[in-house]
Amino acid sequence: MNQKFTLVGSGLAGGLLAAYLGRRGYDVDLYERRADPRAGNFVGGRSINLALSTRGIHALEQLGIADEVLQHAIPMRGRMIHDKSGGLHFSPYDVDPNKCINSIGRGALNTAVIEAAQRYPSVRVHFNHHCTDVDLETPVAHLLNTETNQAITARGDAVVGVDGAFSAVRRAMQRLDRFDYSQSYLAHSYKELTIPPAPDGSWRMEKFSLHIWPRKSFMMIALPNPDGSFTCTLFWEFEGPRSFATTKTDADVRRFFDEEFPDAVPLMPTLLEDFTENPTGSLVTVRCAPWHYQDKVALVGDAAHAVVPFYGQGMNAAFEDCVVFDECLAEFPNDRKRAFTEYFVRRKVNADALADLAVHNFIEMRDKTASRRFRAKKKLDHLFEGMLPRVYLPLYTMVTFTRIPYAEAARRARCQDRIVYGGMIIAGMLAAGLLVALFRLIAF
Ligand SMILES: Cc1cc2nc3c(=O)[nH]c(=O)nc-3n(C[C@H](O)[C@H](O)[C@H](O)COP(=O)(O)OP(=O)(O)OC[C@H]3O[C@@H](n4cnc5c(N)ncnc54)[C@H](O)[C@@H]3O)c2cc1C
Repeated sequence: MNQKFTLVGSGLAGGLLAAYLGRRGYDVDLYERRADPRAGNFVGGRSINLALSTRGIHALEQLGIADEVLQHAIPMRGRMIHDKSGGLHFSPYDVDPNKCINSIGRGALNTAVIEAAQRYPSVRVHFNHHCTDVDLETPVAHLLNTETNQAITARGDAVVGVDGAFSAVRRAMQRLDRFDYSQSYLAHSYKELTIPPAPDGSWRMEKFSLHIWPRKSFMMIALPNPDGSFTCTLFWEFEGPRSFATTKTDADVRRFFDEEFPDAVPLMPTLLEDFTENPTGSLVTVRCAPWHYQDKVALVGDAAHAVVPFYGQGMNAAFEDCVVFDECLAEFPNDRKRAFTEYFVRRKVNADALADLAVHNFIEMRDKTASRRFRAKKKLDHLFEGMLPRVYLPLYTMVTFTRIPYAEAARRARCQDRIVYGGMIIAGMLAAGLLVALFRLIAF
């Protein structure tokens, strides 16, 4: 049992994986390039808050930390759609009003998983250590202590890259023959903005909702924070006649927001500063294979499969990776290569399915949520779900409120839609035929 794991990256999945490995008694050294988030130097700019749902909660439950984490979260029961005239339309996430997604701060969650890992005496966490390269054969991670400028060589039985979408560990694997890799950027980027609390500390909009301003080719969303503020994210074209690239001056920003989000502008006193000072982030999908090299190196979380954020599942999927990684190590305790292979086989197909679902959901959120047809379809979905419990499950419900594997959820939703909506068309045609026949009968 004295195998030693070197983990690179103590973001959301890194901390959680270290806790899982520590629980099994493995020796773990976790290296993170940034400073300790608990010292108040959490680097923002990339989704200050996230939606935590069933898969992520399950992963936390296995370590007994879900309740503690959820204390810092705000439940969101549905989408609050803001139209251009300031009208509001609420669309619940599920027929069951208790089913909600949870807005949680990245810093709070990161701290919780790191502290969970540090409860195990065999886990050591090293901040300010930047991984520069990995020697896959030995396996060794080369790191630079950014405080002392000292080069460090971390040796272990296996190196796990939990170092995010631009993973240094994966970069080393990309030098391998027959390693598949692709990345694709959306034409859209994102920028975070703030709605601060009201003077009495309360929320200036409905607290228990995920707010969406769908504007066909782009959108803004807002998630509530425990301090009374909302973090807004504008997803907008990176380039083009009307885009981040062409919106340069305060007057440009103001005009755009006045035209598109008139009800939000009075709630955003720091809009112009936020827009100028906050970075514009890219949205990338990363696919690669395999996710391991022999029994020596493996990839977990965004390092293996970064997805765009429109299903609110990237972190939830990364947490689910940790659960499966742990299960595979438990199933094959004496054969790490088999464990890594099983982990890859079980997760890859689902990560690919999620990547497709996430891109597709962008179109749904920015464009379709605004339409009456979308709202009617959601109501119909909930009606079928209520009439056929456990038989009919809308895709969103399967992805967000169950642990049905993503690929299976996507397949089942396609099948359901064909049966239900195909059935409705056939029933409609039969009814129309019957009416025509009746009229003819009456006419003669
Ligand atoms: C705008 C936006 C909104 C999102 N919203 C949601 C949401 O609502 N719900 C959801 O489930 N997911 C969401 N996601 C996705 C989620 O952020 C990621 O899937 C999740 O952070 C992945 O966790 P990770 O640990 O794999 O990677 P990360 O969280 O990126 O952590 C990687 C860690 O590795 C460290 N690191 C990187 N390189 C090195 C190196 N060379 N050496 C040492 N350390 C290194 C980094 O500093 C970091 O701490 C969102 C993403 C974005 C961009």
